[in-house]
Amino acid sequence: MACTRGVELHVGMVQAARAAIAGVAVKTPLIASRCLEGTARQPVFLKLETLQPIGAFKLRGAANALACLDAEQRARGVVCCSTGNHGRGVAYAARRLGVKATVCLSNLVPEVKVRAIEALGATVVRVGRSQDEAQTEADRLVREQGLAEVAPFDHPAVIAGQGTIALEILEDRPDLETILVPLSGGGLIGGIALAAKALKPSIHIIGISMARGAAMQASLVAGHPVEVAELPTLADSLGGGIGLRNRWTFDLCRSLVDEVVLLEEAEIYRGMRMLLLEERLVVEGAGAVGHAAILAGKARLDGPAAIIVSGQNAPMEQVLAIGRGEPVTLGGLEVKG
Ligand SMILES: *Cc1c(COP(=O)(O)O)cnc(C)c1O
Repeated sequence: MACTRGVELHVGMVQAARAAIAGVAVKTPLIASRCLEGTARQPVFLKLETLQPIGAFKLRGAANALACLDAEQRARGVVCCSTGNHGRGVAYAARRLGVKATVCLSNLVPEVKVRAIEALGATVVRVGRSQDEAQTEADRLVREQGLAEVAPFDHPAVIAGQGTIALEILEDRPDLETILVPLSGGGLIGGIALAAKALKPSIHIIGISMARGAAMQASLVAGHPVEVAELPTLADSLGGGIGLRNRWTFDLCRSLVDEVVLLEEAEIYRGMRMLLLEERLVVEGAGAVGHAAILAGKARLDGPAAIIVSGQNAPMEQVLAIGRGEPVTLGGLEVKG
């Protein structure tokens, strides 16, 4: 069942999630990359989660989690913290169900994401300079107002929702050998790895994070969840920790992710630029890490591969500057290709 709590996660929950989110999230296209085959020496396909109604995959998990709430929880409303896209997914799914949503965001979240959440009718609370501070505020609202929390990644229904991507891509291309997945809290890669390995145990799952603040990788190395400093990055949707009391995604990543690649900001810049100029796709930094990893020679492929192009919600000035080859400034740090 998509809504079961306190049980081991399994592929049946992902299959149930697929039915639960149909009509809210869309089945996105998987298209051949125009420009990576030469570099990768393998066919590479792009899963365009940029084409979800909110411009990112997060709608899948949010829609599934909202579908799992009971009538009383829906009447009281939901709260979440977010780097932007999860909040937008929760706001979108909540509005369709007539549920009140409150989204806690740190001041690192780009304005474009904040405005999009407000435009969906959610209440935005801005607090502090890290995901941890946004989480603390969400915890307070759960305690004081009895809101139901929809956690951004460490939540079984959210993980199951994100896992529906794997069902779709293996249906379209059963011959895939590798899936490259942007990695932050691990809800996306956890759900994908769970479903993909259940259907095809030999598949290779590669997680990709920015070197500046790669919380899951630091935790995997330490053998337990650890805190890392959250820094401005082009991949702002990958910011934040995994939670010191992580329940689900750390174990999923430890047992199912085969490899983690870390990228410098200039490499992410070049991935975004290639997507824009050669694939002709607007993609935010977090969604460009698959291209960036292949371009940087950091992900070697043994057969046909799919990249999860996870979102498009970058500030437009940033996308245009990168397209023109100009440096971009992130909280005092200058990045160029
Ligand atoms: C949230 C997000 C990710 C990472 O997902 P996790 O489940 O936190 O690992 C990747 N790309 C985009 C665009 C996101 O919004």
